[in-house]
Amino acid sequence: MCYRVIRHLIEGIAAVDDHRMTKSQEVAAMNLLSDQLTLFDEILQSEWEPNPDGIQIDQPGTPDIACDFCGADIFQSFFECTECASPQSTDEPAYILCAACYTEGRSCTCRTMAPKIRRPFVNLLDVRNQAAQLLGSPDYPIFTPNK
Ligand SMILES: [Zn+2]
Ligand SMILES: [Zn+2]
Repeated sequence: MCYRVIRHLIEGIAAVDDHRMTKSQEVAAMNLLSDQLTLFDEILQSEWEPNPDGIQIDQPGTPDIACDFCGADIFQSFFECTECASPQSTDEPAYILCAACYTEGRSCTCRTMAPKIRRPFVNLLDVRNQAAQLLGSPDYPIFTPNK
């Protein structure tokens, strides 16, 4: 997932000053960061929810989750029912659907699912902007959330 790759790259590039990365490694990391940021911008655009009021946010450090119908890894937005158990695993206390499955009309047994997000959107934007700043290219302007 490019969110994690980007965070890893930002940390690596930030450590250049400590001479933990050679110049050629740095160039390679910057190229990779540029590719990943292009992807990440597309994801951000499709996931962007400017008004997350009323949408629950997962606790930080929540383990990775996947859609109980299609098995897709859930990166940001999903739907959850804490009344219906996951058919996949017994230690998963809730039934989870990815946004794609939910919008196709799937639901849990009781059919009352609540929208949730994994982390505040500003966190995604912060990481995205850190990467853009490192690249310093006009192709990647710094985004500011319009409130
Ligand atoms: Zn799904
Ligand atoms: Zn349910």
